[in-house]
Amino acid sequence: MRVGFGYDSHVFDEGRPLHLGGVLIPGAPGLRGHSDADVLIHAIVDALYGAAALGDIGSHFPDTDPRWANADSMQFLRAAVAEVRAAGYSVGNMDATVICERPKLRPHVDAIRARLAEVLGVDVSAVSVKAKTNEGMDAVGEGKGIAVHCVVLLLP
Ligand code: MG
Repeated sequence: MRVGFGYDSHVFDEGRPLHLGGVLIPGAPGLRGHSDADVLIHAIVDALYGAAALGDIGSHFPDTDPRWANADSMQFLRAAVAEVRAAGYSVGNMDATVICERPKLRPHVDAIRARLAEVLGVDVSAVSVKAKTNEGMDAVGEGKGIAVHCVVLLLP
């Protein structure tokens, strides 16, 4: 078994739509980034690559590459899952904590879990997405963006 940890953060960009875990969250400010800035997927991709010691999202999908401008981050997740499978692993489970003062994420959590489970190739019971605020502390607490921490277990 292998465990991987992922972290990512992006600042809000009011002019973009918010993609979180492959789900469009209506009525919420989006995030600044080269791709669609799906901060949750980016953290999961880093956890997958980390678990298999295959580098990180930046080494696979550099933000200087015009191919990834406004890219759907789901393609990064599909590629990372394929690479860890090629390395001989399958996903056991994933657990993520999404930290932001806004928007309220709880109403969207089950849709996000279902979408992620499909791409990770696991039952939805193996996919956890938890939402919390930073209690007003630091930049995330001041509502400047969203941060995600995530762990993934890979099975042989
Ligand atoms: Mg990112």
